[in-house]
Order: sequence, then structure tokens, then C-alpha cells
Amino acid sequence: MKPILLLFGILILISQNACTLTNKKMDFNKLTPQEAAVILNKATERPYTGEYVDNKESGTYLCRQCDAPLYRSEDKFDSHCGWPSFDDEIPGAVKRVPDADGRRTEIICANCGGHLGHVFIGERFTDKNTRHCVNSISMKFIPDNKTKMEKAYFASGCFWGTEYHFMKAKGVIETTVGYMGGHTQNPTYKEVCTGTTGHVETTEIIYDPAKTSFEELLKLYYETHDFEQVGGQGPDIGAQYQSVIFYVNEEQKQLVEKYMKILSDKGYKPATELRPAPEFWSAEDYHQEYYDKKNGTPYCHIYRKIF
Ligand SMILES: [Zn+2]
Repeated sequence: MKPILLLFGILILISQNACTLTNKKMDFNKLTPQEAAVILNKATERPYTGEYVDNKESGTYLCRQCDAPLYRSEDKFDSHCGWPSFDDEIPGAVKRVPDADGRRTEIICANCGGHLGHVFIGERFTDKNTRHCVNSISMKFIPDNKTKMEKAYFASGCFWGTEYHFMKAKGVIETTVGYMGGHTQNPTYKEVCTGTTGHVETTEIIYDPAKTSFEELLKLYYETHDFEQVGGQGPDIGAQYQSVIFYVNEEQKQLVEKYMKILSDKGYKPATELRPAPEFWSAEDYHQEYYDKKNGTPYCHIYRKIF
């Protein structure tokens, strides 16, 4: 019996290890065979074939496998060697290890260990006298203008319904439901529901100003709830369901004022409060993207065209 038990134990240990390894790998981006050949098996792409050799755009180069930021475009220079060249890395992003060839110094991503290329010192290309020679395929370039996202905070009753409409809107990158405007830190849903925290159920919207605008989002906001209702929304009564816009800058404030006037001119009586944005507290996970998780639709956020 004993050897069999021992064997059984070893098998369990092996399978647990395999599980751990698989789980770790799943956090990384899936690699194509070409990417894996370079990033995992340390092959080198052919010179002048990589997509970033001549890239002069301003932005950040991330690790293709794990998305860790590696290099900034300010440190890229033209070395005419056929691969993207940098004379500096983002501090702590790149690890140097002796290459298997016994001569060169290999560079790997400090976060995931993925192969990047080699580093050479003393070639006098730039003042820093260093050349990170990196395979394009080991990296992913994110232009600066794509990283400049903007935020908006809308409260229009139960945040499940508010988020439902905004997460589907054009140009919206991310939505999070949470609490804003109260006097307590890190509130829970239960605390907010007591009506004593002063917090309002709010949706944080991160959007790409190249694809949409605050004005477009504002129209959607008014068109998806009853902004004339005071002290609640639909059947949800209480300060946490009040219609509120938390503005993050003067431009947003002025646009809201403009639209309040447009609505008044149309005969509406907008009850939406306009307040400067204080700290936003994310709600519990089970509230996030609620209707998508439940495959449902909001009970009090029905779209109606106004503008
Ligand atoms: Zn990495």
C-alpha cells in the first residue's frame, strides 16, 4: 500500500504544480507562434521587418506578453541597425542577463521575463552611450493621444440603469458604478441605503474624446432618465437616487448649464443638481455591469429621444 500512496501523493503534487503554472500563464496575453518564437524561445526577428523600426510617434512601448510599460518614445533613436533602438528604459522595467552565447547581454521584461533583445554599451550613438536593441514583436506601442482619456460622473437613480446605457455608448472605454458626494470614506451599499451617508449612486465614465464628447454623453444622460423628478428616480426614493451631475472641469459645468437652459426652453423643469466632483468610491463587485450579468434591462431608465 505504501508505495502506491506515495505515488498518488507525487501525482497530486505534479498536477498542482501544473495548475499553478497554467494559472500564471493565463494572466498574460495569448501569443501568436511568431511572437512566442521571439518572446519565449528568444529568436530574433529579421532586421528592418518589425513594425516599430521607423515609428517616430510619441507614446509608450509595452511588453507584448504582459502589457508592462518598457520604453518611452523620447528614448528611441535611429541606429540604422534594423531594430527599434532605445538609449534608456522606463526605470525598473527591463532586466539584463548574460546571454547564452557568453558574449552579449540579453534584455528581458522585468515583469514576465519575456525576451526583448540585447543591450549594447559604448557604441556612442547617443550621450547615454547605450543601445537597447529590441524586437518590435516583443512590444506593443500605445500612442500618447490614445492614453488621454477623459472622465464624466453621472447620477440618474439606480446606478445599474445609468451604467447600462453608458457602457454601450460609442467612445466609452470603461464604466464603474459607485458612490459620490457624501461625507463618509469607502462607503458600502448597505451604508448608503441607510440614507445617512449623503452619497449618491453614481456612474464613472471613462471615454475617448477622439470618439465621443461630454456633450454627446450629456444628451444620453438626459434621454435615459426622468431629470424632472426630485428626490429620487422612478420607484427609488431617497437622496441616493437624486439626479446629479458631478463636473470635473469648468467646460463640463458650462455645458451642463447650457443644456439645462435648452431643456427649460423646451418646457421641461430639470431637477438635476450640478455639483463639483469629489472623490469617487467604487461600489461592490456585484453591482458592476449588473444588467449584463443578469441578462436584464433597466426598469426605470428607458431611452427617449429629446435632442
Ligand atoms: Zn512582460
